[in-house]
Amino acid sequence: MDAPAKIDLGPVTIALLTDGFWRNDGGCMFGVVPRELWRREHPPDEHNRIRLNLVCPLIIRGNEAVLVDTGIGNRLSDVERKIFDHGDGWLCDGLERLGMEPGDVTCVVLSHLHFDHAGGIVRRRPSGRFEAAFARARVVVQAGELEVARSSRNERLRAAYRHVPECLEPVAQRLEPVSGTVELIPGVRAAVTGGHTYDHQVVRVETGQGSFVHLADIVPTRSHLRGPWNQAYDLDALRTMEEKERYLSRASTENGWVSFAHDDRLLAARVRREHGRYQAAEGLLTGEDGATEPGRA
Ligand SMILES: [Zn+2]
Repeated sequence: MDAPAKIDLGPVTIALLTDGFWRNDGGCMFGVVPRELWRREHPPDEHNRIRLNLVCPLIIRGNEAVLVDTGIGNRLSDVERKIFDHGDGWLCDGLERLGMEPGDVTCVVLSHLHFDHAGGIVRRRPSGRFEAAFARARVVVQAGELEVARSSRNERLRAAYRHVPECLEPVAQRLEPVSGTVELIPGVRAAVTGGHTYDHQVVRVETGQGSFVHLADIVPTRSHLRGPWNQAYDLDALRTMEEKERYLSRASTENGWVSFAHDDRLLAARVRREHGRYQAAEGLLTGEDGATEPGRA
């Protein structure tokens, strides 16, 4: 595995860690977009699944290391591992290649609590017990997201969050529910977008030397740079479109970086608006192991 790709913004460095490739149903990933359109860029396998990544940016400033999302981790059952074609997760391998260990992560911020973003917050020990994967980190979650995950009676929402007690119990003491925009460390902010879930949040970095944003499930792949290409999971797809436009327009104006939570080729890119559409320009490519390789989109 190569060393994780990095984006240098002066006092802040962003390492693009990944929890490895996985697969999910292509129809779920593209919602109302016909299969004929998405299958060219994302060829489905015999189960209609497409290859996806689990990109988790690690934002480093001095002694602070803020991990954005945690991937799937190693908590899945054998049946689930087959369904999603995911193994044990590689986040800790990426940390090791940076010369860091899980205890060096000071803050974990979760965009939302779906299993492919929050699952890696815990590790399953050989005994079967779960422990916090990042023992020293505070865990920042939107209070609204937490409330829906814990207490919604809606059948669809209950299914989407059924793993949450298992994932949050080991980190209960370190949980920091927040409401709205918060500064995590100087120059690094979490801000609510809604759209994918009611309180979905994104993380933006701004220094005198540039900007970076992890849009999580607002723009999960390069194909989702197109306004109407959104996931079937989105609770409010129109809201997703509005927030997408707002963040991409800002990124293209300031030549900022955007990272893609689930793209199997591009970890992050500078985004340009051409002929009324956003395109990935200069990009950091995914290597064959899901990690990195600097290159051009
Ligand atoms: Zn996701």
